[in-house]
Amino acid sequence: MNTFDAINLKPGPVSACQICLSPRLEPILDLGHSALCDSPLSAEQIRHPETLYPLRLVRCPDCGLVQIDYSVDPAKLFHPDYPYLSGITETLKRHLQNTAERGHAKFPAPKDALAVDIGSNDGTLLEGFKRLGLRVRGVEATNIARVANQKGIPTTQDFFNLNMAQRIVDTEGHASFVTATNVFAHVNHLGTLLRGIRMLLTEDGVFISESHYLLDILATLQYDSIYHEHLRFYSLKPLVKLFDSQGFSLVDAERIPNYGGSIRVYAQTGRGRPFSEGVKNLIAEEEKAGVYEAATYQKFARDAQASREELRSLLVQLKREGKKVAGIGCPGRAATLLLWCGISPDLLPYIAEQSSCLKVGSFTPGSHIPIVDEKRVFEEQPEYALILSWHYARDIVRKMRAKGLRSRVIVPLPSVRIVEGEL
Ligand SMILES: [Zn+2]
Repeated sequence: MNTFDAINLKPGPVSACQICLSPRLEPILDLGHSALCDSPLSAEQIRHPETLYPLRLVRCPDCGLVQIDYSVDPAKLFHPDYPYLSGITETLKRHLQNTAERGHAKFPAPKDALAVDIGSNDGTLLEGFKRLGLRVRGVEATNIARVANQKGIPTTQDFFNLNMAQRIVDTEGHASFVTATNVFAHVNHLGTLLRGIRMLLTEDGVFISESHYLLDILATLQYDSIYHEHLRFYSLKPLVKLFDSQGFSLVDAERIPNYGGSIRVYAQTGRGRPFSEGVKNLIAEEEKAGVYEAATYQKFARDAQASREELRSLLVQLKREGKKVAGIGCPGRAATLLLWCGISPDLLPYIAEQSSCLKVGSFTPGSHIPIVDEKRVFEEQPEYALILSWHYARDIVRKMRAKGLRSRVIVPLPSVRIVEGEL
């Protein structure tokens, strides 16, 4: 077996660490069986049985990788109608364009150099590279590829694999940048991904990934970021090991605010390149926060369970008092929160989303709460509004207040809070 094959996951239960192959996976938190977060259901679908998959957070004591121990077939997870558009929020758009600018500032490339984005969504990140004078190529498996192509960002609609890497090299040359934002922790064929990226990169090229950062997940109790798309929750020590095992060196890393706290990691081909002061400092910070100690995860599990009980009790109490409650915003992570906390339409009759959101008109997976155009929440002005994109709560509350929302706002995490005005 090639080194890169060894860490490719097959759909189904995961019985060895996804990076170091250790069989000693320790359970952290069992979220039962859960629905696929980004598969909202139609009115017709909720009249039929729904498949749920095991969702359990575990940890490898050998390399420190926190991961889930079930891998769902990517064709089911990232289906052609995957409802997510990265350009949809202004904040995210700014962040993604910053990825290109920052990468180019750290690793300057000639004007006509090539940048390839894997999981390129609607092409927002590549627009940043295009503006810097680079040639760009997107790779996106879902129908959102069409949106990118319409915008003039050349995008291949398929899953990334070695043949595609070779085809890009043959037709467009090697890439100075390969990016994968919110993808690197999601792919099941991690070995193939890294092998393909090695084929794509120029000798001095750089692979830039962005993923949820375990340090932030622990600090702000983000149990709702646990869902099947997130196979791995990265911290730096296991990543250093992963890159080394696949013929790369992790050379730099920085924290970024995306999705409630992420890490941007820079890697280059060839083993043994030194890493920056920034990486050293972050590893020290991880160690200080107990990222590599079992007790940290026991506390995380206890706190998550307590938070879940508190949120559900609040909604039950509001229902008993006859108060109206609506949800605001329906990110993927809402599916885990709603289902695990036992929040069904009797406690939360609907979730309001911007009319441009592709989820409007469908139902949340597992919990079956209708997702409706946000104008309903302004008309009805329920007494309480539960913010499900709580990691962007400040911006969302400001925006909703400006549009006329008068409801008291419930922020579910890191601890349940009720807010009257702005945050
Ligand atoms: Zn491991």
